[in-house]
Amino acid sequence: MSSSRFRGIPSVHELIDHPALKGLVDRVSHHVVVRGVRDFLADFREELSTRAESLSVPYPGELAERIAHWITKEQGVRLRPVVNATGVLLHTGLGRAPLSESAIDAIRQVAANYSALEVDIESGDRGRRIADVERLFQELTGAESVALTNNCAAATLLALSSLAAGRKVVVSRGELIEIGGSYRLPEIMAAGGAQLLEVGTTNKTRLSDYARACEDGPAAILKVHTSNYRIVGFSECPSLKDLVPLARRHRIPLIHDIGSGAMLNLAPFGLPDEPQVPESLRDGADLVLCSGDKLLGGPQCGIAAGTKELVRKLVAHPLMRAFRVDKLTIAALHATLLEYRDPAKAIEKIPVLSLLGTSTQNLRNRAERLAPQIAASPEVQEAVVEEGEAAVGGGTTPARGIPTCCVVIRAARRSVDELARLLRTGHPSVFGRVQKDRLWLDLRAVFPRQDQDLVAAFDHFTDSGTETRGLGNQGS
Ligand SMILES: *Cc1c(COP(=O)(O)O)cnc(C)c1O
Repeated sequence: MSSSRFRGIPSVHELIDHPALKGLVDRVSHHVVVRGVRDFLADFREELSTRAESLSVPYPGELAERIAHWITKEQGVRLRPVVNATGVLLHTGLGRAPLSESAIDAIRQVAANYSALEVDIESGDRGRRIADVERLFQELTGAESVALTNNCAAATLLALSSLAAGRKVVVSRGELIEIGGSYRLPEIMAAGGAQLLEVGTTNKTRLSDYARACEDGPAAILKVHTSNYRIVGFSECPSLKDLVPLARRHRIPLIHDIGSGAMLNLAPFGLPDEPQVPESLRDGADLVLCSGDKLLGGPQCGIAAGTKELVRKLVAHPLMRAFRVDKLTIAALHATLLEYRDPAKAIEKIPVLSLLGTSTQNLRNRAERLAPQIAASPEVQEAVVEEGEAAVGGGTTPARGIPTCCVVIRAARRSVDELARLLRTGHPSVFGRVQKDRLWLDLRAVFPRQDQDLVAAFDHFTDSGTETRGLGNQGS
């Protein structure tokens, strides 16, 4: 094998100086890129020695581009930013709620330093790690006490394990929810060691059904917000308020799993049926369970808020230690909750709420600016502006229903699915939705600062030519 051909391969140093890889160093890290270049060159040398004559060493600039492409694709960093043009605001696959600036700052502060996480600053003694969050929650929602877990599923499991293990819990048959595959209420119930006491039917549950079940000596009543479906038509189910006297009479806790954790009335945003944490507590729930990264707009976590007595039982359970959240989550949640002190500000500062509150006219103006720019791409046969319906998602609010505006694209040179794939895998990475043979870029969950990314996404893969010009299997 002619080692002279190896000599044509530029050094790692030389390659990293080329713009494609330099840009990647800025985006990813020096270490990752160097390792990627080394791995690629090792494979390349191997290929040169086995496939000899059919391969030649490309020019350094081209090689650098191929390597950059390979690193981003094959070593694909999953946790890289994507533009969410799916029209699903809380897309679980895309990480649900983006955080507010203040939450990001709080994470940075806490991450870079030691913090008085479990120390009482006055006395220097051991303190509670979530004391500040709890105080804010008391102020904002009226809850006496709070426990934080990694997600709402954990909060539910913790509540059932600590309040109802070995005993029955009353749930309406109309509220036996499944949230995205792995969260199914009957299974969580079983995992918590509680026995499901189903009452009523799928479409009709009456107060008398609950009352009869309560004669059976259950440990609690669990009311669940059917966050991703609705039972309409010939249907009824008692409200939380209706259940309060019954729970009080039997001296059992009334637990309300509200899911999305809205802190404000979101009816003005087109979400009239979304239960709110303060309202649920005011209406008489003894314990409210919700997620932090849905409509609350904070970090992923579960929140169990309610009476001192119940929260004390949750916190005392061994699972609490397994489920407890880290300092970064506490910092981000605290900063997010602080925004709610001024609801008008919260609507501006908390990304989920500001996206939800953007007027359709604003979306339309932006779509109309973007459509001709996108249409200029050779990949695009036609790009038009159409209104549509976006969704909250993340197991929140059923069906679509939030008015939105989209740039709707007909692909020119390949199938619409292939176009959608190229946009997802490109830089910037854009997720749209394919519907009726066209690609819909929905602006509802796109930040205005990302508008030009939508255009750049088309430039990117057009500029770098076809996706398959890499080396053998190294390319696409
Ligand atoms: C989303 C949801 C859950 C699960 O919350 P995670 O934070 O994803 O664990 C539980 N209950 C309801 C009603 C929900 O909407």
